[in-house]
Amino acid sequence: MNWITNFVKPKLQSFVGKKEVPDNLWETCPKCSQMILKRELKVALYVCKHCDHHFRINAKDRLESFFGNNFMIIETPKIKSDPLKFKDSKKYVDRLKKAKKNTELEDSVLVASGTLNKTKVTVAIFDFNFMGGSMGMAAGEAIVTACNYAKKNKLPLIIFSSSGGARMQEGILSLMQMPRTVIAVNSYCKTNQPFLSILTDPTTGGVSASFAMLGDLILAEKNATIGFAGSRVIEETIKEKLPQNFQKSEYLLEKGMVDFVIHRKDLKKKIISILEFLNP
Ligand SMILES: [Zn+2]
Repeated sequence: MNWITNFVKPKLQSFVGKKEVPDNLWETCPKCSQMILKRELKVALYVCKHCDHHFRINAKDRLESFFGNNFMIIETPKIKSDPLKFKDSKKYVDRLKKAKKNTELEDSVLVASGTLNKTKVTVAIFDFNFMGGSMGMAAGEAIVTACNYAKKNKLPLIIFSSSGGARMQEGILSLMQMPRTVIAVNSYCKTNQPFLSILTDPTTGGVSASFAMLGDLILAEKNATIGFAGSRVIEETIKEKLPQNFQKSEYLLEKGMVDFVIHRKDLKKKIISILEFLNP
């Protein structure tokens, strides 16, 4: 790498307005269209240095940014995949296979336990890259596993949501994960340990309509989309124009739906200070 690729190339590309990246070393910011080196982006916790846009972050990077190497993955029970033998333009089993290969995950939620500044915690992290972070039986099982593990070991529970909602390929079985996860969270809360729900971009559909809104404290990352139905659907239904920042973290904070809106670089510090304050 030299000054031509580091400096001249992004300048030239921003000048000619080319958005496609010719190689895989660069990422283009979807907000300001500036090019950023992928390794720089990772160090910056996937926040654009030009416009502060928070990129979606995968579950493994999120886990490492919180715990370094100091965590243990918690196995989640195997479930029967594709119980409905679902097929639309592609077979569900093929979509699953592709998602597993691309993300190196078994499904959309990763469960782990680690230590944050001397406090042991349990985390469940959605990965939006795995079929839009959709919640099917495996994701439901992962949330229940996280709740049970945290309950058994009397640990704070932190769930990072990033999801388009229920997994349509599993039909009613995916919708059943909404009450299941709510029951699991309610059962966990009897331990009097804190449940921190972290809403990241996007937290929508069945996830926002179930456990994600039940945190003792709800923290949202900056400028994340959080809602149930999409704003276009709502506009068409109520025949009214919605405010510009409707369903954004800052709007939800203003309306009292979330407790804090946090910049990603401050998130770990904030969680640590909340845990210290609550002294679980
Ligand atoms: Zn940007």
